[in-house]
Amino acid sequence: MPEGPEIRRSTDQLAAALVGHVPEIQLLYPALQPYHNGLQGQKIVAVSSRSKAWLIHFENELTLYGHNQLYGVWMVRKSGSLPRTNRQLRLSLAGPRQWALLYSCTDLAVLSPEQLVTHPYLSRLGPDVLDLNTDTETVLGRLHDPRFQRRRLHALLLDQGFLAGLGNYLRSEMLFVAHIPPDYRPMDCTETQLQALAEAALDLPRRSYATAGLTLAPEHVERLKAAGKPRRAWRFWVFAREGQPCHTCDTRVQKTVLGGRRLYFCPRCQSESL
Ligand SMILES: [Zn+2]
Repeated sequence: MPEGPEIRRSTDQLAAALVGHVPEIQLLYPALQPYHNGLQGQKIVAVSSRSKAWLIHFENELTLYGHNQLYGVWMVRKSGSLPRTNRQLRLSLAGPRQWALLYSCTDLAVLSPEQLVTHPYLSRLGPDVLDLNTDTETVLGRLHDPRFQRRRLHALLLDQGFLAGLGNYLRSEMLFVAHIPPDYRPMDCTETQLQALAEAALDLPRRSYATAGLTLAPEHVERLKAAGKPRRAWRFWVFAREGQPCHTCDTRVQKTVLGGRRLYFCPRCQSESL
């Protein structure tokens, strides 16, 4: 599933195509059709993302909301040109030069300002890691919060109510950077580990957003690129690198499954004795 950084990059594309324009609207998903008259003729004033949801804000204060889950996808194309796909088109918004086509998504709604505040998904989100108002102290405060302190980090880091915008690859990467064994709870960590985790919770998603998916530190990226290695070798610290040498200590990266999702770690850098 795309994580916060991928959703944000997708909404940036939508914003570039649509903001400031009155789009031609097609709503093919039945639950949206009653809203056609409410949205048609309205200018799009902003496009944003919150955690894994995208929001298209119209001038009359209605917001088109969607959560792409595992299968939904936006495609932005030159107006009139259709991508080759067998997916089901749910809606299209056509700006002057480009149009945005949403396929397969089924979690869709049109929300009033009041509904935006009380929406079941949006209202339970924790602080968003891509929101520049979220700082290290905020994250550290949550790691010390009795509501979260006793939960396993491998589960907590996927809970959008704890921090919004994290997901499976970021989970492995953050635990590695903070030198934390994957089955630890916040209460098992030293203050140094918690501080490092709080910093990684913001730095890694923001780096991934800025670089289209890299979480590895720039000095390693440059070194491996210069050595002619392919992108998969310099994208992540540990994620999807089972059996490859750790970038820090050369120990082979291991894979496990925690909370039903794959997790990668370095048994030396994330050892309990550290
Ligand atoms: Zn290592």
